[in-house]
Amino acid sequence: MSSRYNPQAAESHWRKAWADAAIFRAKPPAEAPGQEKSYVLEMFPYPSGKLHMGHVRNYAMGDVVARHRRAHGHNVLHPMGWDAFGLPAENAAIERGVHPADWTYKNIDSMRAQLEKLGLTLDWSREFATCDEEYYGEQQRLFLKFVEGGLAYRRSSKVNWDPVDNTVLANEQVIDGKGWRTGAPVEQRELTQWFLRITQYADELLKGIDTLENWPDKVRLMQANWIGKSRGATVKWPFAKDAPSGFGDGIEVYTTRPDTLYGASFLALAADHPIVRKLADDRPDIKAFVADAARIGTSEEAIEKAPKLGVDLGFTVRHPFDPGWEIPVWTANFVLSTYGTGAIFGSPAGDQRDLDFARKYDLPVTPVVLPPETSADDHVITDTAYTGPGTIYNSDFLNGLSTEEAIAAAIARLEENGLGTGTVNYRLRDWGVSRQRYWGCPIPIVHCDDCGVVPVPEADLPVTLPKDVSFDKPGNPLAHHPTWKKTSCPSCGKPAERETDTLDTFVDSSWYYARFASVSDPEERAYWLPVDQYVGGVEHAVLHLLYARFVARALHDLGELQLPGGEPFAGLFTQGMVTHETYKKSDGKWVEPADVERRDGGLYLKGSDEQVEAGPIEKISKSRKNVVDPDEIIATFGADTARWFVLSDSPPDSRPQDGLAQRVARYEAELIREALSNHRGDIRKVTAALGLPRKTLYDKLTKYGLKPEDFRRGGG
Ligand code: ZN
Repeated sequence: MSSRYNPQAAESHWRKAWADAAIFRAKPPAEAPGQEKSYVLEMFPYPSGKLHMGHVRNYAMGDVVARHRRAHGHNVLHPMGWDAFGLPAENAAIERGVHPADWTYKNIDSMRAQLEKLGLTLDWSREFATCDEEYYGEQQRLFLKFVEGGLAYRRSSKVNWDPVDNTVLANEQVIDGKGWRTGAPVEQRELTQWFLRITQYADELLKGIDTLENWPDKVRLMQANWIGKSRGATVKWPFAKDAPSGFGDGIEVYTTRPDTLYGASFLALAADHPIVRKLADDRPDIKAFVADAARIGTSEEAIEKAPKLGVDLGFTVRHPFDPGWEIPVWTANFVLSTYGTGAIFGSPAGDQRDLDFARKYDLPVTPVVLPPETSADDHVITDTAYTGPGTIYNSDFLNGLSTEEAIAAAIARLEENGLGTGTVNYRLRDWGVSRQRYWGCPIPIVHCDDCGVVPVPEADLPVTLPKDVSFDKPGNPLAHHPTWKKTSCPSCGKPAERETDTLDTFVDSSWYYARFASVSDPEERAYWLPVDQYVGGVEHAVLHLLYARFVARALHDLGELQLPGGEPFAGLFTQGMVTHETYKKSDGKWVEPADVERRDGGLYLKGSDEQVEAGPIEKISKSRKNVVDPDEIIATFGADTARWFVLSDSPPDSRPQDGLAQRVARYEAELIREALSNHRGDIRKVTAALGLPRKTLYDKLTKYGLKPEDFRRGGG
């Protein structure tokens, strides 16, 4: 007798059978001789309390890979756990009076039940939450290794302060000048903070990107841009005629384009440069200009929009390659004192702002870079600068060299004649990890009046969070706690105080993949790592993935992790937002997809003659009524259907087969076009969103023929 397939009955039967037989348990290396290993990991969830379709998609994709590899006879590790520290738990405590630990563990229970119903092939025996004392205790031990190895240090610095969450944000967590979580405008404050020395690994992290062949090109590109290595030179321009006294023998300028030095037509100083301020005392025209420049403000956006204005300061400097060549010095409103030395040299043929300025004040424009496949006679600069690479000409000893070669040759000559030095700069900054919050990993440090900063001895770890805590005052509950911070100095025994800051939760997720591989056995960790396939959201392209790569390398160097290649994730798949079709009625109101039916070639509100219109396929959101509840699909159709649905509704990227360079170029152009479109051509927002310096962005716009103005009215 046949009957309709009943997913409820069948799935619960088989889930139990699988669990009883422990068939998804990853075997320890000793039990799997001759078997290939596969470590499949999805970015672990924050226990918000309810699974959404984004989660389902993430885990369903990883599950496909895990099943496939298991079917090929691999010994598969496919674990699950919880990224469980963070602010929502504290906010729940403040709003509802529930303890963060209770809120978090309760959410974990309900999300675990939801995940189990999805029929994923997970090894639940390795589950942990980052708020487990055992996990964060081990993290404290690792933090102290960082301190010992000089990779964690304390210093006072200006910090980004989120006034809503009352905590510090890393640079990476500030987007468009606003907190990444709250969207509140970020304030600057001076605080003593712990930092992890990620800058020490800048070059290794950059080089490592080349080995990540199974990563999406756009993520590799975003990481490289974030690290932001630039080669350049500091160039000294000796004073010539009528120079002001008291400022040494010349002006220093930082440049990334020493290959264009022969195109120099002026030097420009920021309006608040000390030389300009001094000259303003005797020159009313300079004084008035400085006052006007201050009114524009210092935001890049304002400077971008303002007309390029300046004043000739009335003295000259000598060209570093030709002492007989004198160059006038100006002050200009587009030069920022915060960039480099607050002075630039204008090489108008190769920089749009320099060109606008030179045209306005009738300064010389000498092209020195010949674009590929162009002859010198044909290359005329009128109103558009050429910022791309090419062959150098009109440039004495640099003639005939490529841009790259000319940069090297120019630096060599500058160093030879003592008028400059080649430098390598990185955009990457050290990672500030102190957070003034309760629900995080306590920093295992004691402050003693006599001994200073003293690490908590390993035998005294973990330093656990106090259970009795109150959230009735603003600020850090650990600092307000009546007794928790009072302790004795591990070194001299006198009364001392515990550090009350906790670690940024991105620290928790920077090594969890190693903890899944084994609780503590270094051999087993070495066996499973690196993760063969990592799956997660593209929103982690910079933050989490860069931190995890850094921490893996650092732990390897500290002898805490055997990872010879240095990279924790050999393969990466990043998925975009989960999207779904949207529908609208003629009055503009959104309609749920379930309430729409297709008949006679049209779309109608179910059971009525009212026509509806298909909107764009958009990110799932409640306001557009295109939310899909995973529980509903599972209840109705079963888990297999839910997983299949989410994979087919928003299919994963296809992997194009053409050459790497073309793929990089295509992704890059696509990425920039998308950012221009999202931010309607606002250059300041686009640079922030992409993590690109503005100069680099302009170069790339030229390269791909993209014009910000085309996106200003939502076009493009
Ligand atoms: Zn002491």
